[in-house]
Amino acid sequence: MSKNYETVIGLEVHVELATKTKIFCGCTTAFGGAPNTHTCPVCTGMPGSLPVLNKKVVEYAAAVGLATNCKITQKCKFDRKNYFYPDNPQNYQISQLYLPICRDGHVDITLADGSTKQVRIHEIHMEEDAGKLVHDEYDDVSYVDYNRSGVPLIEIVSEPDMRSAEEVIAYLEKLRQTIQYLGASDCKLQEGSMRADVNLSIREVGASEFGTRTEMKNLNSFTAITHAIEGETERQIDLLEAGKEVEQQTRRWDDNNGESYPMRSKEDAHDYRYFPDPDLVPLNISDEWLDEIRSNQPEFKEEKAIRYREEFGIPDYDIGLITDSKKLADIFEEATAECGEPKKVSNWILGETMRILKEKSLDPEDITFSPANLAKLIKLVDGGTINGSVAKEVFANIFDEDVDPEAYVEEHGLKQVNDEGALKACVEKVIADNPQSVLDYKGGKVQAIGYLVGQTMKAMKGKANPGMVNQLLKEMLDK
Ligand SMILES: [Zn+2]
Repeated sequence: MSKNYETVIGLEVHVELATKTKIFCGCTTAFGGAPNTHTCPVCTGMPGSLPVLNKKVVEYAAAVGLATNCKITQKCKFDRKNYFYPDNPQNYQISQLYLPICRDGHVDITLADGSTKQVRIHEIHMEEDAGKLVHDEYDDVSYVDYNRSGVPLIEIVSEPDMRSAEEVIAYLEKLRQTIQYLGASDCKLQEGSMRADVNLSIREVGASEFGTRTEMKNLNSFTAITHAIEGETERQIDLLEAGKEVEQQTRRWDDNNGESYPMRSKEDAHDYRYFPDPDLVPLNISDEWLDEIRSNQPEFKEEKAIRYREEFGIPDYDIGLITDSKKLADIFEEATAECGEPKKVSNWILGETMRILKEKSLDPEDITFSPANLAKLIKLVDGGTINGSVAKEVFANIFDEDVDPEAYVEEHGLKQVNDEGALKACVEKVIADNPQSVLDYKGGKVQAIGYLVGQTMKAMKGKANPGMVNQLLKEMLDK
């Protein structure tokens, strides 16, 4: 009989910080660009070049630490992690081992059953990203692009406190939300600005020792992470059940085949021969500087939700979804400030905006339309200039191309027809053309009027005032 196992998971999450320049030089961090154009002697590891720390990196790292209840190491320093690989021009990565900037934090996650759980954060350290090897484009050679080399990263290392894929995803979502609220990163898994390595082991329920762990890399979506956790849990249980041992190794998850492959045996810190970086002076974060960072912390989801309840009086359901994303909250606040209609703005966000995001598989962070144009659209509907169905058509264009709704309605002749004479003539024709529906209605089938409304709207190319059409139809049919 199979034993009862539990999965033990800890995460190492790398986040690219949203600074304009790299961590130790003035090169741009902009994504893309022709290979090796965002580089200089420092980030290509030229002999004699010296690193200079970017102050903003420290501020972002400390801000993330404060938001995740960490203690800030005010006297911290950088260390060299030595390894040889062509994407790493110096043959060492500047990182932090001995005195990481943040330690001993935690975040609270909420699970599907409504329960909450605390996941402890062991540390957060600052480090530089590596370059990128290009293997596939040429037959017999590999190329290296150092544009990403020296882009600032923080690595958030959790304690092994998670027990399921659900807890892992809730933890990652909480981190992503917090960091996006801080503006410290856009945290896009697909583009690699947030990357998670999963350390996983199995043990019998009730055991006090941890099992041997493996680390899985290259997980670039929540779906892949979930699959990898499930797959690796199964693989390790199968090994133990067969009387074999789990080997400590780094594995690559292939989400297409639903399998993981060993990459190398997993290294421990001592394999890297860490030592203090002699080119960088120790960092002293003064009390004043730390206070300043603390006072610049934004309003987070929880505080925002309380304020929305008092200030806007929209339902808790709306508040929960809008404040889940800093981007949606910003759109909500700006559009509401323009049009003064919080519930209507909320309806557009939770309705059409969410529908289009889902249809196009986009995240709220991908939204590019301006809140002012949404506010204008709401005013056009409220003022009777366009009707609800035309508004949806206009919104689709605002979403895609951020069109000015007033100009768009004008250009495409979408103004609502409120002219009673024109509507009456159209309604009369629809009544004359649909005798069966008229008979049905008069015979007591009240819903038959819906068909006649539809026919009138169609004849008016969707632009009729629906309230007036209803009214006119009822008047004429009830005569
Ligand atoms: Zn550079």
